[in-house]
Amino acid sequence: MLSENNNAEIRKRAEAKAKRQAESMATPTEKLIYELNVHQIELEMQNDELRASQQEVQKARRQYEALFENAPIGYFLFSRQGGILDVNHHGALMLKAERKHLTHKPFVVFLPRDTHPRFFRHLQSVFEREEVVSEEMPFSDRSGGLLWGRFESRLQRNAAGEDQCFTAIIDITDRKSMEQDLIAAKEQAVAANRAKSHFLANMSHEIRTPMNGIIGMAELTLDTELNKEQQGYLDAIHGSAESLLAIINDILDFSRIEAEKITLEHRPFSLSILLGAVQDLFRPMVDNKGISLELNQELNGHDAFIGDANRIRQVLVNLVGNAVKFTHEGRIQINVKGLETEDGRVELRIEVKDTGIGIPEAQQHEIFQSFTQAEGNYGRAFPGSGLGLTISRSLADLMGGSLSFESGEDQGSTFRFVIPLKATTLTPEEVTKPALHNNQPHVHTTHVLVAEDNAINVLVIRTLLEKKGYTVTCAGNGHEALEALSTQDSIRIVLMDVSMPGMDGVTATRKIRAGEAGSAVKDIPIIALTAHSIKGAREEFLADGMDDYISKPFNQDEVFEKIQALLNKELT
Ligand code: ADP
Repeated sequence: MLSENNNAEIRKRAEAKAKRQAESMATPTEKLIYELNVHQIELEMQNDELRASQQEVQKARRQYEALFENAPIGYFLFSRQGGILDVNHHGALMLKAERKHLTHKPFVVFLPRDTHPRFFRHLQSVFEREEVVSEEMPFSDRSGGLLWGRFESRLQRNAAGEDQCFTAIIDITDRKSMEQDLIAAKEQAVAANRAKSHFLANMSHEIRTPMNGIIGMAELTLDTELNKEQQGYLDAIHGSAESLLAIINDILDFSRIEAEKITLEHRPFSLSILLGAVQDLFRPMVDNKGISLELNQELNGHDAFIGDANRIRQVLVNLVGNAVKFTHEGRIQINVKGLETEDGRVELRIEVKDTGIGIPEAQQHEIFQSFTQAEGNYGRAFPGSGLGLTISRSLADLMGGSLSFESGEDQGSTFRFVIPLKATTLTPEEVTKPALHNNQPHVHTTHVLVAEDNAINVLVIRTLLEKKGYTVTCAGNGHEALEALSTQDSIRIVLMDVSMPGMDGVTATRKIRAGEAGSAVKDIPIIALTAHSIKGAREEFLADGMDDYISKPFNQDEVFEKIQALLNKELT
């Protein structure tokens, strides 16, 4: 308050003094000169200020121009038609052209032909929709070198009120080529992985054929008179061959899943029969180990389902097999529940619970990875390929379900396999395949043609069939098969190997169906024999005119069952 009063006081005194001075000026002329002087000083001061601000503006302008010219970005001003109205130094440099030659040139001369429409659309968005547009486009310099740019454009109005497109082009050629290199490298890796999967599939297929010979011959020899020692050795050969085959099958399945070559079947099956078969399979092993294997089912009356029974069995065999392998005392439970879902299906929840060694927490995240075993690679106490769970989870996923687990070291493990299935009303008798019955005497006199080039497999099949009383004729390739069929009219059924030298089984089948071995045998039942146990292949063989399909190494019962089924069909 005090200082405000003071200021007012000072001001009052100053005004009075100025007034006194002005009054004391001698003449009006002096007064006028004084006024002019003041005015002159005032103008000069204003001029100085103007000059300073002009200098500021010029300085800013120079800075802006330096920025515009030297920025590592190409700045372009485009007309509505895409003509270059102005370009900065870097822009000209990017196009390897001189600035003066660029003005009024249509920019499309620097664009690959197929990019022209994109560039015009880009301009259209800016001019017509007044959008800020940003997109990546290829362009070329004057010498034809291809570059990639990020075009960032916006509308700008010049002093005359005309619309122009202001575009910043950032050279992203290096990034693009890096991206393309990465994509190429990724494609190469995917192709290499696919080639690996094909190689694995081919190799395991090649291995399955001789395995068929080893297992078949071992089985046949086991049926002959042997002393105890020989029987023991042969059992060992047979057992090892079966384990080897299991590993090969895992590798084959794994490579097929990787190559996305697995398709699922949708056929009716009986769950109780499937579960019973799994239980029977492991019964001798659990008895041997002194542990128990229980099966508890709560299926609300459902038993027949539509799905891929073989693949479901494969997952269960893997889970129960692991439980048996890793449990030394206590019990294994297979708990099965069926929950009806809203979409009218039944969600099967199959739990395989053991009181075994469990899986340490640190290793739990790895067990679904391929080739991984929780106990590590060294000093392995348990055999296995480490693929079982990877395959099982992929199969569960393929079936629209899931596979999960809970476990802890020394606390046992619980694996949960959940799949949605359509229940069907067929009775178990209807849904299961007819069991093997070879008690019809007429079967034993049947004449079978075996077309197969592998001598050991021929020996296996021939011995197998002859032991059951069949008459067997062998052919080493398609030509010989046609020849045999056209000369021996007692042949009732053909087992046809698919890959044979000279003429393969598929070609031979087509020729038989076309009547080239005589019209009497045009419709003779033909069963394909192949080491390709691929689902898609099965459909192909059937489409090629074969009636059924047996995958090698085959199981003796399956061979008789299939021959019998086709002959029965013939009779009806
Ligand atoms: P493998 O064919 O070698 O058994 P899997 O993929 O089936 O391969 O299993 C991978 C690993 O997971 C096994 O080697 C084992 O360490 C662990 N594992 C799987 N099931 C069990 C279980 N029931 N109890 C303890 N460990 C298990």
